[in-house]
Amino acid sequence: MTFFYSAPENAKTHSPLNNSVKHRVLIVDDNEMELMVFRASLNENIISSFAASAKDALNLLKHQPLPDLIVLDIVMPVENGYEFCKKLKTDYQTKHIPIIFLTACKNLEDKTKAFEAGAADYVTKPFFPEELEFRVQNQLRLLEEKRRLEKLAFTDDLTSLANRRSYNQALLDEWSRSARNKHALSLLLLDIDDFKGYNDFYGHDAGDKVLARVAKMFSSLAVRAGDLCARFGGEELVLLLPDCNEEGALQKAEQAVAGVINLNIDHSHSLHKGLLTASVGVTTAYPRADIDSLMLFKVTDEALYKAKTQGKNRFHVAKSIGYAGDL
Ligand code: GH3
Ligand code: MG
Ligand code: MG
Repeated sequence: MTFFYSAPENAKTHSPLNNSVKHRVLIVDDNEMELMVFRASLNENIISSFAASAKDALNLLKHQPLPDLIVLDIVMPVENGYEFCKKLKTDYQTKHIPIIFLTACKNLEDKTKAFEAGAADYVTKPFFPEELEFRVQNQLRLLEEKRRLEKLAFTDDLTSLANRRSYNQALLDEWSRSARNKHALSLLLLDIDDFKGYNDFYGHDAGDKVLARVAKMFSSLAVRAGDLCARFGGEELVLLLPDCNEEGALQKAEQAVAGVINLNIDHSHSLHKGLLTASVGVTTAYPRADIDSLMLFKVTDEALYKAKTQGKNRFHVAKSIGYAGDL
């Protein structure tokens, strides 16, 4: 045994973390005994798992939800901690996971190698379990803060939908994923009809509330894991639907147009029974690397324009981009 002492019972009450969030910590060390006290002292909101080698750890990473933090030994059989850390830092799925090295290697050279490999922190054995727990909490707190800032940077305040930055990123990701998997990718663009008239008559604050209600209804159509509803700008909302063909997209467009009517919002300037309405442009693409993803929005915007010129309160489906027959 190389740890100094058992963590006191009250160590569990010192957590500065958000207690409503459960965090996962993966401990990779070939000497489990050594870490039993540390594991026992961890905050009850931390779910810990243990791997005795880099190979076991990779297996866990593949088959369990990804951890928020990894505590990693250096000297292990087959693959050492530096090599494993470098591997994790080059994989897009694991490169963001902070890694704390926990090791008997004490030289500056060892520490330098660890930080160069991507370590977030470094603790030497023998260790104080309580110190390690504080260092774990520090990393988890930084992670919470990072996630909070990311959420702010990618969310629209008024509607709580994803913002345009988020949509742009999702479009790039989904375009290449769809091209790779040879899947369809559909886009809906919704624009509220005569919204300027609504603001002029009912006031801008009332307009804001209406926009938030329409956004809530439209986002309820994003039911699958990869679906993304975002505020593109002004009163224009997008719904990006991976692995959704023309038929699926058309159904969503019908639901969107009917969904706005069903909100039953009075609109003095409306051509449709005095109720607020919206128009929708729809396109299905069969993405390929040689087609610019921005085409999807351009074509969908043209379809929206047609829905407007044909009388509003309707959707218009554009000709598909790419050829389904090539897939
Ligand atoms: P159309 O039927 O052709 O879409 O007519 P429209 O009046 O809706 O025209 P357009 O879509 O070009 O105008 C957008 C209007 O939406 C302008 C602005 O008054 C309103 N709008 C855009 N963003 C907001 C917002 O965040 N809050 C509110 N209240 N109104 C907004
Ligand atoms: Mg508009
Ligand atoms: Mg409008």
